[in-house]
Amino acid sequence: MAESKKKPVPPSGANRPPGTPAEGQSPLTDLLSREELDTLSTLQIVDLIVSKLPARHPSIMDVVYLRERIATLEETNFQAQEAIEKLDAIVEKLRSPAFRVGTFLMPIEPDKAHVCVGGTDYVCRIDPQMPLTSLQVGQRVLCNEAFAVVQGLGFDRNGPIVRLDELLSDGRLRIGQETGLIPLVLLRSALLAKEKLKPGLEVRLDLNQRVALEVVGMGKRVDRSLETVTPLPWQAIGGQDEAVQAIRDTIELPFLHRDLFKRFEHTVPKGFLLYGPPGCGKTLLGKATAYNLRQQIKTQTGVDRPEFFLHVKGPEILNMWVGESERQVRDLFAQCRERANDGALAFLFIDEAESVLGTRRAGRYHSILSTLVPMFCTEMDGLEPLKNVVVILASNRADLIDPAILRPGRIDRKIKVHRPDLAGVQSIYEIYLRDSLPLAEPKKELAVAATQAHFARIPENQFLEVVYRSGKKDVLYRGDLASGAIVAAIVERAKSFAIKRSIETKLETLITREDLVDALNKEYAENDLFPTTDITEDWMKLTDFDPDNVIRLGPVRPRKVETLGGGIV
Ligand code: ADP
Repeated sequence: MAESKKKPVPPSGANRPPGTPAEGQSPLTDLLSREELDTLSTLQIVDLIVSKLPARHPSIMDVVYLRERIATLEETNFQAQEAIEKLDAIVEKLRSPAFRVGTFLMPIEPDKAHVCVGGTDYVCRIDPQMPLTSLQVGQRVLCNEAFAVVQGLGFDRNGPIVRLDELLSDGRLRIGQETGLIPLVLLRSALLAKEKLKPGLEVRLDLNQRVALEVVGMGKRVDRSLETVTPLPWQAIGGQDEAVQAIRDTIELPFLHRDLFKRFEHTVPKGFLLYGPPGCGKTLLGKATAYNLRQQIKTQTGVDRPEFFLHVKGPEILNMWVGESERQVRDLFAQCRERANDGALAFLFIDEAESVLGTRRAGRYHSILSTLVPMFCTEMDGLEPLKNVVVILASNRADLIDPAILRPGRIDRKIKVHRPDLAGVQSIYEIYLRDSLPLAEPKKELAVAATQAHFARIPENQFLEVVYRSGKKDVLYRGDLASGAIVAAIVERAKSFAIKRSIETKLETLITREDLVDALNKEYAENDLFPTTDITEDWMKLTDFDPDNVIRLGPVRPRKVETLGGGIV
């Protein structure tokens, strides 16, 4: 009751007899001073008045009625007051500024926290009622107007997704430039603290992009480019002795004689470029490098380090999504580094390298190349020779590759893969005409016969006509455009002839020199190594001619070419 809040009424009993007020004063002031009276509630004053009235005074019942009315009024007043106070508190709450939501980054003992709010870092005080240990790295926290942490919220449920590029040794995570972000180093949230993470995983970030909160997927990796290296001794490659020697000097020697190279402070390359016409064994040489290095290391040290051979074609990397190509290149390096760290011999083989690492000329992919080349250089610079990854580039147009890629310390060994000459072609025939096959003659004799047919300077073998700027004309023969790929295809086709014969005659048949010559004629007419057009530019890619010196290069005779209408021209 409101009544009880007020000052107790002093006992009556002043010196003066009741009912005789002092002169100039109200009758009550002889009991209490004016100031004391002012502190009393209305009811208390009524009580005081009643106490002064003589017993059985006629007005007592009126005063009692008045007192009841006043008591009711005071009670109503008191309740209204309480309601107003509550409303005031509500209004006050509604008018106070919003709390900020931040990401808790780390505790700062004993009572502060490192928090990121709206992209800015703060060291915030923590509400003393909230133990610091109750906060987890990466969770959201409420900060009041003074940026004090007043409440812990859960973890963000949404946020950008990025792919991990690298795990730093202290557990932090590096991500690259995708989704428009600049490269970042992230903390692990408490949820990921003990998680075994790998580059390539997709993680979700907090909204301040400081903490990786959870793994949301595996991410697309360029795993399709992983190739198993089948046994491929150097002898399985014909007509490339010089290139083989150069590769062995460049890669095998430093791997096998590490200490000598160190003592002489001889630089060790991180990779090499194989350049030359298509179908002459660049990819084969790349794989043979991996296979033979593994064998050599096994023989010399007893340690068997499995190969990890990533084979990518340059144009596969080019992607119309901004940042996607860069992501792929980083991913390739990351995969190789990862496997090398696990003890594998990691090889990154980039075929048609000029398409991704070409000079930053204007053109459709200009903007991509202008970021890919420097990024590739950075990845190369980050590699440690012999420890990480051997990078092999292959190209038909080495002249188009950006010189920055070919600087010392990056890919500074350029190895030419020539078209095989007569002896080379013969050795390739011998490789594919294996002794185990049903051959009509000894392997060597068949190989010699096939090679002679291949290189004969006879009209049937005339293949390309060249018109030089000087007006001079020349003819290239089939032998001038020989390659390992075409020899392999000729032998395969010869086998198919023998098989057909066997089926038709129901007799066991053998591969003859005639089969090989027929196959030779068919292959030069149909092999997809050769362009199906008469366009000079297409044919130039197969030769070493200087484009400035040649005005026309094309097939000597009309070749069987399917036109759009399906006819033969
Ligand atoms: P490139 O990479 O230069 O275009 P590849 O290495 O892909 O050529 O060759 C294609 C195929 O041709 C090989 O798989 C192999 O069968 C055959 N080949 C090419 N060159 C040789 C060679 N020098 N010795 C043996 N086979 C070869």
